Amino acid sequence: MKNCSSSLYNIRKKDSSFAGKNLLENTRIKAFIVDIRSALNEYKTRIGNTSDRHKCLQRIYAIVTHHCGDHSKCKWSDVCRFREIKEANPTWLDEKVQEENAKDAIQFSGRYVDLSDYGIVVCLSDN
Ligand SMILES: [Zn+2]
Repeated sequence: MKNCSSSLYNIRKKDSSFAGKNLLENTRIKAFIVDIRSALNEYKTRIGNTSDRHKCLQRIYAIVTHHCGDHSKCKWSDVCRFREIKEANPTWLDEKVQEENAKDAIQFSGRYVDLSDYGIVVCLSDN
């Protein structure tokens, strides 16, 4: 876990376009780490269960994009408010779901970073 957060801090150090207000700031790095830890902790109580393992990996895979406002990889409504709203209102367009989601979510000043798979690969390769 420590390696994972250092990797994120290192990305920011190496590529200054990830640094600065509203981008790869400490709060956001902390949010990634909290979510990764929570996915691992949930699985820890059910080690050996294939579907729980699958859920844990899917959650980790979606964390960075989820925090960047892209919920296409989010599969679990219990950990993604966007997915929860969407499932409760299947006829809504994504824009409307996003609008509703934004009302509840703590936003990073309404801006998103685009780390995409790069961040995930760097983060996971350290664990
Ligand atoms: Zn999501």
